Amino acid sequence: MSNIADITIIGAGVVGLAIASEVSRIGGDIYVLEKNETYGQEQSSRNSEVIHAGIYYERDSLKTRMCLAGNSLLYELCGQKGISYNKCGKIIVATDQVEAEELDKLFNKAKDNGAEVRMLSSQEIVRLEPNLVATAAFFSPTTGIIDSYALITYLHGQAKMNGVQMVFNTTVTGLEKVSDGYSITVQEPSGESSFKSKVVINCAGLYSDRVAEMAGINIDEANYRLNWCKGEYYSVGGGKNKLINTLVYPVPMAISVGVHVCFDVSWRLRLGPLFYYVDKESYVIDDSRRKDFLESSMMKALPVIEPAELEPESSCIMAMLQGEGEGFRDFVVKHEYDRGLPGFINLIGIETPGLTSSLAIAKYVNQIVAEIL
Ligand SMILES: Cc1cc2nc3c(=O)[nH]c(=O)nc-3n(C[C@H](O)[C@H](O)[C@H](O)COP(=O)(O)OP(=O)(O)OC[C@H]3O[C@@H](n4cnc5c(N)ncnc54)[C@H](O)[C@@H]3O)c2cc1C
Repeated sequence: MSNIADITIIGAGVVGLAIASEVSRIGGDIYVLEKNETYGQEQSSRNSEVIHAGIYYERDSLKTRMCLAGNSLLYELCGQKGISYNKCGKIIVATDQVEAEELDKLFNKAKDNGAEVRMLSSQEIVRLEPNLVATAAFFSPTTGIIDSYALITYLHGQAKMNGVQMVFNTTVTGLEKVSDGYSITVQEPSGESSFKSKVVINCAGLYSDRVAEMAGINIDEANYRLNWCKGEYYSVGGGKNKLINTLVYPVPMAISVGVHVCFDVSWRLRLGPLFYYVDKESYVIDDSRRKDFLESSMMKALPVIEPAELEPESSCIMAMLQGEGEGFRDFVVKHEYDRGLPGFINLIGIETPGLTSSLAIAKYVNQIVAEIL
């Protein structure tokens, strides 16, 4: 590693890699530092792989803007580069009158956000999804699924082709403002060392609040402290993937978008994620929560799925700014010059729809970097 870099990106998840691929178009001495032995081992490879359509979030928020822009950019990239995807659409479903009222509100919000949606008649519901039991439903034709591992592999390859140095097994442990940039301390297998970078981009996912803290930011005052939310998935056997034609989502619950039907590009069927807040990084599935799956709206909407067909499958932890019972929080994508940290860009709370938004976030950050350098 040279001892002066132009840009250092902390974290090789989909967001860090998308940014690396974008900012490296103009050249420069650019590093990606990643604590794991390779890229995409955390949130970016353990999610629902859904290309979202901008339905759920506050109008004009970064989440909505990045999701809408990222949706189109992802489909375009997948088409051009042969990354597997399926623009299968999704049905959002209400299973009773109370949910139907919430569904109406969500439909209007989606339209207001500029997302493409259309209400379904009961005949259309039966035609699209004969095994669905619904009081009401609407359809989002621009929702789809993507092979997220293929995406991050492409972004990694693209960044490397543009000359980005990928440094794995390297944990950032310190960050100090010095003249003309930052001194970054890293822990590598060979020991601790430091180097200097003009620009630092914090894409550290679950640990991005701690990296911000390393730079001297009071994360409570800044409202950057992250909450970890664990999401668990159950696979569905019994050939039931052949009886469901598209993604099916409930009216959103308290945390995130609720337990929903997930397909990957090979049409493997899962239900999830069931989210709950945690304070430890453990990926063991707590099967005692199976009853919450059985009581979820999805099991009511799809009685064709038998409880015995659910098998614990995988889990992930999401980096959320929103604490338990709290309201909407937007993505933080911020150049911290007003905190006396010019050249330090924080990305904090990049939860759902972060995968969808990744290419748009990268373009947004590239504009900030262009103003700095
Ligand atoms: C259960 C679940 C389902 C989801 N479903 C969807 C979906 O369907 N659609 C969608 O659009 N989004 C979805 N998301 C959100 C999406 O997965 C995330 O927004 C996205 O992956 C965030 O990417 P990232 O690069 O910011 O974080 P990460 O992928 O977590 O990457 C951060 C990287 O930083 C590294 N790192 C951390 N600290 C340090 C350090 N000190 N030094 C060096 N490296 C460090 C980590 O090792 C990690 O590799 C989901 C998320 C979850 C959890």
